[in-house]
Amino acid sequence: MAFKIRIMASHGKPGRGPVPRIIYKAEAYEEGDQFRERKWQCLHDHETVEHAFNCGMVWLGDQHGPAPGGRVETA
Ligand SMILES: [Zn+2]
Repeated sequence: MAFKIRIMASHGKPGRGPVPRIIYKAEAYEEGDQFRERKWQCLHDHETVEHAFNCGMVWLGDQHGPAPGGRVETA
């Protein structure tokens, strides 16, 4: 199942100054899901869409599973 990345914008915690801060989070959903249910969301408060998108791309790159012929074991 292939994942797609989308970026969600929301208001961050109130900061100093009159301009509300907008934060961005990367989310992933399954490509074939008509409801686009969220399968993953990054834990950061990204300040730009680009950062959030890159974060999603990094996550996506980790989703291919164990390589054939071997897998990483963590103690
Ligand atoms: Zn992130």
